[in-house]
This record gives sequence, structure tokens and C-alpha cells, in this order.
Amino acid sequence: MSTNCSRCREVITEALDCISCKVCKNTLHFYCCGFREANFRKTSKETKNSWTCDECKSSKTSTAADSNKSFQKEILDQLQEFKRSLDFNSKVLEEVVKSNKNLQEELQNIKKENYQLIEENKQLKTQIAEIKNDVIDLQQYSRRLNVEIANLPECENENITSIMESLMVALETDQMKDLVTYHRVPTISKTKIKPIVVQFTSITTKNNFLKIAKQKKIDMSSVTDDRSTFHRGVVKMPFTFIVYFLH
Ligand SMILES: [Zn+2]
Ligand SMILES: [Zn+2]
Repeated sequence: MSTNCSRCREVITEALDCISCKVCKNTLHFYCCGFREANFRKTSKETKNSWTCDECKSSKTSTAADSNKSFQKEILDQLQEFKRSLDFNSKVLEEVVKSNKNLQEELQNIKKENYQLIEENKQLKTQIAEIKNDVIDLQQYSRRLNVEIANLPECENENITSIMESLMVALETDQMKDLVTYHRVPTISKTKIKPIVVQFTSITTKNNFLKIAKQKKIDMSSVTDDRSTFHRGVVKMPFTFIVYFLH
């Protein structure tokens, strides 16, 4: 069976003059593929068996180059994808950091507001305590001219003026003229006799009345300046007086 050289297309007559490509299996004259005869004769059988023609060599190279290129492209694509995802993640992270910063600022503001509210509350408490003391002072001041007369029996359609006049006669004093007002004040207990609160024209006339009442051995429970007790005179009429008024 004759074989043609795949380069010059002529029939290969001498088997020792040709070489086969291990890839495409084409057979060529040694001189058709660039060998010098002397070199070709010296070339070992193993080298000849592993020989590759120029076409196969270049196609192999180009295939390798192509695959290398596509590998590079793939790496590049993956790198770009990675970069995109990295960009996205750092953007997300940036937003998280930003919103965290906002939250912290908000928290600081709330803390500050809370502190201010606590301070305001403290001030208000102090002011309320001061106002309370002022009210007590005012109450004490408004009562400074008052004397409360206890145990004077009540009767229906009583005339407080005549009761007061009788009291002054019994105490042998003409202090009717020193009175501004007098009236019964309600008590919580319905069975208890309502006391009569008398307002005097001045501290002097009030003290004068209390002095006289004391001289007449009337039970005096009076007058402390303690804040817990209101400053007023209390005169408790003894039994003898009660008998007197019942007449
Ligand atoms: Zn040839
Ligand atoms: Zn070949």
C-alpha cells in the first residue's frame, strides 16, 4: 500500500525517508518537514515516534492559548463578580454603620432629654414643697386672729350674737367690740358640738381675750407655733359655763 506525503502529495517510496505525526497520523518526507538528512538519520526512533507536525503543533498552541484566554476571561468574570458583590457588601456595611451611628445619636438625645426631665422634675418637687409651706404660712397667717371656742352647747335657731354677748358677760369683759366675725364651723362628727370660730380685730385683742379666759379658769388648749399644728387659740368651755348657757 503506497502512502502519499501529506505536504508534497508525492508517493513515499522509501519508508526510512518518512516520519509520522503522532497527533494527526499524517506521514511526510523528512525533507518536507524541515529535517536535514544527516540529522534525520541520527534521530532516535523514540524521538521520531513522539514527533508532531507543524500544523498540529500550531493548532495545539492555539488551543492552549484559547483555553488559557477563556480561563483568564472566566477568572476575570469571577473577579468582577466578586468585586461587584464586595462593592455591594461594603455599601450595605456602610449603611449599617450609618444607621447605627444615627441610632446612637438618637439614644444620646433621649438620654439627654431624660436627664433634663429628671432635673425638671426635681425642680418642680422643690417648688411644690415651697408652695406647700407658703400655703401653710398663709393658713396660719389667716388664722392668727382666730380663737376657737369649744363645748358651747348648740340649740335650734340659736343666735350666735347673743351667745357671744352672754359669753362676754360671763367672762366680765366688754370685748364684743373687738370681734370681727363669729360662726359655728362644721365638724366631721355629727354628734360633736360644732365649735364657734371667733375672729378678733387684732393680735392684742385676741391675746387679751385669751388672758381673761385663763383667769376665769377656763380650759385653755392653745397655741403652738409648730408647722404641723395651726396657730390658733382654742378655748374649751367648762361645765359651769355650759350650765350657764343652757339657762
Ligand atoms: Zn513530501
Ligand atoms: Zn500532525
